[in-house]
Amino acid sequence: MGCGPCGRDLSTFDIESIHAPRASARGAFVSEILSSMLPAFTSAHSHAFQIGLRGSGEHFPGGTADFWTWRQAMYGLVERMDPDLAYQLAHRCYREMVQAGIRTVGEFHYLRHHVTDQTDFVLDQAVIEAAHDAGIELVLLPAAYEEGGPGVDLSIAQQRFASGGFHRYWERFDQLQGMLRSGQSMQACVHSLRAVPWDQVQRHIAEAHQRGLKLHVHLEEQPRELAEIKGAYGDHPVRLLLDSQLPVEHIVGVHMTHTPESQLVEWLERGATILPCPLTEGDLGDGVPELPDLPALRNQLALGTDSNLRISMFEEMRRLEHDQRCRTLRRGALRCGGTSPAEVLWRAASTGGRLALGRSDPGPSLSINQEHHLLTQGDGSSLLDALVFGGDERVLKGQ
Ligand SMILES: [Zn+2]
Repeated sequence: MGCGPCGRDLSTFDIESIHAPRASARGAFVSEILSSMLPAFTSAHSHAFQIGLRGSGEHFPGGTADFWTWRQAMYGLVERMDPDLAYQLAHRCYREMVQAGIRTVGEFHYLRHHVTDQTDFVLDQAVIEAAHDAGIELVLLPAAYEEGGPGVDLSIAQQRFASGGFHRYWERFDQLQGMLRSGQSMQACVHSLRAVPWDQVQRHIAEAHQRGLKLHVHLEEQPRELAEIKGAYGDHPVRLLLDSQLPVEHIVGVHMTHTPESQLVEWLERGATILPCPLTEGDLGDGVPELPDLPALRNQLALGTDSNLRISMFEEMRRLEHDQRCRTLRRGALRCGGTSPAEVLWRAASTGGRLALGRSDPGPSLSINQEHHLLTQGDGSSLLDALVFGGDERVLKGQ
């Protein structure tokens, strides 16, 4: 691993010190991190192929639209997908991530087949190779996907997502382990409680836990999802999970934009992780999660670029905090037991994402240009705040 301008060995770089400084030492701590390097960004939730939708779906001749009309446009892209296009879109997406300071990506991978009448899984390889060629660390999250809603058959487009049942899912998971390139890894993934029957979801949770894996799942992104799951299984998804008697500390809940704050508190107390994707949630009109301002968020919060409409962790960090300020009508919404949201946000955008992807090592680093005009106002103690609330990719050296 490389060294910062101070010549420090980053293998011993104390990530915790970045996020838990003593208030009295804050000025010195900020100078220290900016004289060396910061943990690189992690997009812990990505659907790389959706970069192909950029610029689409922003005209509304029929009046307003919503998540579900966007999903139909996404399925149009899905139906045109072949291995070459899947590789090209993923490679373009991952290159753009690298240029934005993202060094690790959690690819929530559900578009897996080239044809609809058989399960060839040929698009798995396209993602693996695209990440390798783009120079980004891939944590592949192959998604279990079984049905079009509780008790509903897969549509034509959704047939390209089929994982083939519980046993086939894990058989393919084990095959994929042998196909990964150097430095790549995998964790478990269930698309959503809409797409996998509840009894199978529980088996996946238990299997992932027994294997020591994280399990990523879309949760409570849209009101319709909550209504469908309650109608089919008697309660909303997060309530079902919390009441299931299963371990949940390895579960990473993506979105959770319609989960009551009291349940998010319980979710965190049980050790599980929350993974908002603020730019995508804003674009789709999903809503804003009711994040509790708790110390647990320091280790159990990650961020993702999701649809990759816009790839910027600076903007994801700011949007997360700004949305919470607008929701709670107070500034400093995510201090999480400390004094500054900036530290919480950078951690969520970097090492928090790695933890959500099963990686406890600090990972790659970014070198910051302290002399950049975006950072040079004020005294040294406000540098990290300037970086998070006023910076962008131009402050990164070598980008
Ligand atoms: Zn997603």
